[in-house]
Amino acid sequence: MRTGQEYLDALSDGRDIRVDGRRVENVAVDPAFTGVAQTTAALYDQALRSESRLLDPETGRHLIYAIPRTSEASDARRAALEEWSEATHGFIGRGADHVSGLLAGFASKPELFHDTERPHSGKVVEFHEYAASRSLWITNAIVPPQANPADPTSHVRPVEVVDEGPEGIVVDGAQMLASGGAVADELFVTCVRPLAPGEERRALSFVVPLNAPGLRLISRRPYATLGSPFDYPLAARFDESDAMVTFDQVVIPWERVFLVGDRAGLQAQFFDTAAHQLGNIQAIIRLSAKLRFITGLASLAAKANGREKSESVRNAVADISMIATTIEAFVESAYARAKVDDVGVVRPDGQFLYAALGMQTDVYPRAIKLLGELVGGGVIQLPASVADLRDPTERASMQRLMGSGENGLDERVKLFKLVWDAVGTEFAGRHVQYERFYSGSPAVVKNYAHRNYPFARAESDVRDFLAGYDLEDEARD
Ligand SMILES: Cc1cc2nc3c(=O)[nH]c(=O)nc-3n(C[C@H](O)[C@H](O)[C@H](O)COP(=O)(O)OP(=O)(O)OC[C@H]3O[C@@H](n4cnc5c(N)ncnc54)[C@H](O)[C@@H]3O)c2cc1C
Repeated sequence: MRTGQEYLDALSDGRDIRVDGRRVENVAVDPAFTGVAQTTAALYDQALRSESRLLDPETGRHLIYAIPRTSEASDARRAALEEWSEATHGFIGRGADHVSGLLAGFASKPELFHDTERPHSGKVVEFHEYAASRSLWITNAIVPPQANPADPTSHVRPVEVVDEGPEGIVVDGAQMLASGGAVADELFVTCVRPLAPGEERRALSFVVPLNAPGLRLISRRPYATLGSPFDYPLAARFDESDAMVTFDQVVIPWERVFLVGDRAGLQAQFFDTAAHQLGNIQAIIRLSAKLRFITGLASLAAKANGREKSESVRNAVADISMIATTIEAFVESAYARAKVDDVGVVRPDGQFLYAALGMQTDVYPRAIKLLGELVGGGVIQLPASVADLRDPTERASMQRLMGSGENGLDERVKLFKLVWDAVGTEFAGRHVQYERFYSGSPAVVKNYAHRNYPFARAESDVRDFLAGYDLEDEARD
C-alpha cells in the first residue's frame, strides 16, 4: 500500500496551482500547502502500522474505498472513517475519505452509468478499482460558480462539454471550489444541483488528474502561512486549502467519463446508488470527531481559569458537549438502523444521516459561539508569537500576566492559541463557513432531511388522534 512519501512524491507532477499571484512549483514543499500534505502523508503511513484499522486485513486496501455488503464490512468501513477523522480531529473535510465513498456507491450500481451511444464511458467499476488499488485521494468540485443569471455581460461559465471524439470529451468552463484540490491526486467533477432542460452540456460526471493540461486551480488565501505551528496549530496542520477550478479545453479520456449529457443520471448517481450516503456518513463522523475536540477545548479552558466548578461555566461546557453527543448519537443511529439497498449495499440510515447534515449548519456555529463566550479575552491576552516566549525580559513580564508553576506560561499560551485557532482566526472562520455550506446551502441540505424523514408515520399518529373525536363528541359533552 501507498506510503506517505509515495503520496508526497506523486504531488510533484506539474499541476497548475496558483496562489498569491504565483504558480506553485511543488505543492508538497510549498509553505502554503506543505502542512496538509505532511498531515496526509502521515495518515498514509499510519495505515501501515499494525494497530491501524484503516486497511482491510484481507485485501490490504484502504477501507474508505470498500463497498460494504455485510454489517461486518460496514462496521469495518466505519472504523476506518473514524480513525481517519480522529487523526485530523475532523478539521480536514475533503480528505481521501469522502469521494472514495461516492465512487464505492457508483461502482455498486454500474448499470446506471451505461450509455448505449457511448459504450466507452461509464466505467465506474474499473475506475473504482483503479483508485482503490492506488489509495488515491480524489476530491470534488460539484457546484458551479456563483453568478448573477440576469447579468447579460457575465462571462461566468460553469464547466460544460464542448467536444467529444474517439479519445474522450473536451470540457471548458469553471467550478466554484475544490477543497483539498491543491494536494489531492485527482478531481471528481459533476453538478450536484438539478439541471434544467437545455443544460445537457453541463450534465457531466468525470474524474480528472490534477496535472491535466488546461486544468488550473486558483487558491484562496492560505492560512497555513499565517504564522508558526505553535501560534496557529490547527491551520498549520489542517488547512486543507480551497481553490477555484478552471478548465481550458481539458481532454477527459473515456475511461474517466462516467456520464455525459444525462441530466437525470447526474441526480441518480448520487441518490439512486449508495453514493451520497457512503460519502456523507464520512461527513458526520468527521463532524463528531471535531465536536469532541471542541468540547475538550472548552473543558480544558474552563479548568485553566479554575472555573470548572462554577455552575454557569459547567452549563456552557455541557451545552457544547450536548451538541457533540447529538451528532455522535446520529452516527450511532445511522449505523444501528443501516439498511441493505436493492443491490445489496449496506447503507447508513438516511433519516439520521440527513438530520445530522441538516443540523450541522446550526450546531457547529453555535458550539464555536459558546466556546468563544467561555474563553472571553483569554484568547486575546496572548503574545503575538512564539518569539515573545523566547525573549527572557518579555517572559518575566508575561509571568505576571499568565504564569503559574514551572511551565504554566507556555502551557497556557499553547492552549489558548489553540482555542483561538478554533474560534477566532481566519482558519476558524473558514470552518464555520465550511460547516454551513460544504454540502449545499442550508435550504438544500434540510431538503435532504425532509426527503428522508418518515412523515407517513408521523402524519398517521396525528390522523389517528384526530379520528378519536369529532363535533358530535363535542355536542355530547
Ligand atoms: C469552505 C467551503 C468549502 C467548500 N468546498 C467545496 C468543495 O470541495 N467542492 C464543492 O463542490 N463545493 C465546495 N464548496 C461550495 C459549496 O458546495 C457551496 O457553497 C454550496 O453548495 C452553496 O452554494 P453557494 O455557495 O453558491 O451558495 P448559495 O446557493 O448562493 O447560497 C447562499 C445563500 O443564498 C441563499 N439563496 C440561494 N439562492 C437564492 C435565491 N435564488 N434567492 C434568495 N436566496 C438564495 C441560500 O439560501 C443561502 O443562504 C465549499 C464551500 C465552502 C464555504
